Amino acid sequence: MTSAVDVNGRRYRAPSRPLVVVCVDGCEPDYITQAVMAKDAPFLASLRERGTCLTADCVVPSFTNPNNLSIVTGAPPSVHGICGNFFFDSETRAEVMMNDAKYLRAGTILAAFANAGANVAVVTAKDKLRGLLGHQLSGICFSAERADRVTKAENGVDDALGLAGMPLPSVYSAELSQFVFAAGAALLERVRPDIMYLSTTDYVQHKHAPGTPAANAFTGMLDRYLARLDQAGAAIVLTADHGMGAKTDAFGRPNIVFLQDVLDAAYGEHTTRVILPITDPYVVHHGALGSYATVYVEGGVPVEDVSARIAALHGIDLVLTRAAACERFELPADRIGDLVVVSERLTAIGSRERAHDLSQLDAPLRSHGGISEQRVPLIANRPAPDLPQRRWRNFDAFDLGLNHLA
Ligand SMILES: [Zn+2]
Repeated sequence: MTSAVDVNGRRYRAPSRPLVVVCVDGCEPDYITQAVMAKDAPFLASLRERGTCLTADCVVPSFTNPNNLSIVTGAPPSVHGICGNFFFDSETRAEVMMNDAKYLRAGTILAAFANAGANVAVVTAKDKLRGLLGHQLSGICFSAERADRVTKAENGVDDALGLAGMPLPSVYSAELSQFVFAAGAALLERVRPDIMYLSTTDYVQHKHAPGTPAANAFTGMLDRYLARLDQAGAAIVLTADHGMGAKTDAFGRPNIVFLQDVLDAAYGEHTTRVILPITDPYVVHHGALGSYATVYVEGGVPVEDVSARIAALHGIDLVLTRAAACERFELPADRIGDLVVVSERLTAIGSRERAHDLSQLDAPLRSHGGISEQRVPLIANRPAPDLPQRRWRNFDAFDLGLNHLA
């Protein structure tokens, strides 16, 4: 292996011991605080004395794919191009999933190290991320969701179920994330990759607030696997793709601005197009509702007029033009609409009321997407003696792990 690799303008030293970067989906910092307070996370508690704990900013929109891709490229969406799970392709004029690697505009740190001779492994919960994270990666890469279908040729490993020692989990379960850690711990012990990236799913976090029994049980499970990775000699950096918050009133009823309904009533149908980039095939736990939307304005309607109308709505915090949003949130201009809309902490943005199926929500709506879910933990199991004072981002996880830990 070479002594360092350069990726997207940043230099990363080759690891002197295995590095495991863990992205805990939807891990609001308070999930860890509460589990530590309840004595459910003794390993994380021990890092107070021997580790590093920063509070970092994730990328807005605070969604899963943009942030996972930022973490593995060490760069914001303006560089890697992935600014949602879903977007409006203005060339084909179609609303499409952005989970195909053809939408990725930058190389990953993972692929660069693999090319430099390192052994690299990636385990994700949902399969939607596998293709993006594994782009041009020669190494191990599979999802818990499709763990029954891995092959040595396709995924760099076979018998993932045997490796994790678990049956195939349901895509809507805490076990889907547990499978990622179980497989990761076994890989570290048996294969000892130089670099490993583990990415979970936020099924638990969408349903359970910090400090609740189910949330503490999840963090306790995470804690036991982190202790195992630590025991096996890995440097660990834990961060999150985004935080998570209630989008409800005090009675637990959802606060939702149905933005497409509002705009259709004001300007008529087919004059504006509200895109919710949280949309993906797995909507059961959030009903495709988050705190971020982007709006395409068509048919000669003045953008300023639409902007002012949205900004005046109760529950909306921020409306930015495309240029302002690209500047502030480091987004690719060709993949967002004329306006970017962010709701306040307790409010979610919907498109049309009839387009959202809330009947499957069996707990008060919790979601993400906005600035209110931008703070995430950035934690390591080793000290970082000469840490520069700066705004830390979740996509500094590899920089912290490779360039700053003792
Ligand atoms: Zn997520």
